[in-house]
Amino acid sequence: MQFIDLHKQQERIRTGVHRRIQTVMDHGKYIMGPEVQELEKTLAEFVGIKHCVGCSSGTDALLMTLMAWEVGPGDAVFTTPFTFISTAEVIQLLGATPVFVDIDEKTFNIDPVKLEKVVKNTIDAGELNHKAVITVDLFGLPADYPSIETIAKKYNLLVLEDAAQSFGASIGMRKTGSFGDAAATSFFPAKPLGCYGDGGAIFTDNDDLAEKLHSIRIHGKGSHKYDNIRVGINGRLDTLQAAILLEKFSIFPEEVDLRNNVAGLYNEKLHNKVQSPFVPDGYTSVWAIYSILTDSEKHRTEIQERLKGKNIPTAIYYPLPLHLQTAFMGLGFQEGDFPISEDISQRIFSLPMHPYLDKADIKTITELIF
Ligand SMILES: *Cc1c(COP(=O)(O)O)cnc(C)c1O
Repeated sequence: MQFIDLHKQQERIRTGVHRRIQTVMDHGKYIMGPEVQELEKTLAEFVGIKHCVGCSSGTDALLMTLMAWEVGPGDAVFTTPFTFISTAEVIQLLGATPVFVDIDEKTFNIDPVKLEKVVKNTIDAGELNHKAVITVDLFGLPADYPSIETIAKKYNLLVLEDAAQSFGASIGMRKTGSFGDAAATSFFPAKPLGCYGDGGAIFTDNDDLAEKLHSIRIHGKGSHKYDNIRVGINGRLDTLQAAILLEKFSIFPEEVDLRNNVAGLYNEKLHNKVQSPFVPDGYTSVWAIYSILTDSEKHRTEIQERLKGKNIPTAIYYPLPLHLQTAFMGLGFQEGDFPISEDISQRIFSLPMHPYLDKADIKTITELIF
């Protein structure tokens, strides 16, 4: 059994992917070819937002947005310590200061009540300029945007949604990618909508931001390629990856439903055994990762070993919160600073999750969990 089985998906779309790749090879526009724009239009429509800007990865999607907002030294960017390194890495890379806020113990997403406290404390301390918040839709579940958007308005903060794991999820009628001032997603192969390499995209309704992003992704270009009006990066999405994504997108909405069926079956079978994921009323998850909570680190190790014995892979997202990572030692955080994140990181682990897990697979897996 595989943790994420991309082969089963490939069996369904192989012919179409070949056709799409062939088309790119025929027209030969490997950089910024027509497929990039076609994909941007398709995804913007799906999300229900004005602009989609394809780019080189989810990390660069976050980075480019912060660059466009001119985030830099002296700026505080609030975010969660319970996420993948990219979310905070880009803040530090620009010389700004990541200011961590602990998570909600049920959703594992940034806690809005704590966010407001930390923002107030930062303003009172008067050392940093409170600039933005990067929320993360962890494991595919949107963060609490109704609360976060209210706080952001009150304190004049920009909101960047890290939707790397949540493309296709929603709160009510609003889809991920449409929250905050801009959203970043990733097409890394293991994400819910993945390509066959690296890729990402930024979503926004803001025309001015979209224009800046178009410039930043091509070395800060102005009216043409050799007119450079700002410092940018090589942040383009490959035409070939866009072509592959267009084919994959044709079955994506159906795959989101399949993922939800798998999660539903897991939830049912794991009821009363371990703590299965919490999805607030009105929210949907896209189940990038299906994570469960045991009552102790020891119990987690026991279950993981039992599954491993039957060749069932598991993973831990994330074993060490970011404030305790060596890369962020310079920020001066220590153990005990974010107790919820620290506690969860010791008890959480993830089961195989993809649209093509069947009832028998789920039965086998869940019978080994006790
Ligand atoms: C995967 C991921 C990223 C980075 O995406 P890449 O495409 O790998 O650069 C950023 N944030 C989160 C939460 C992720 O899971």
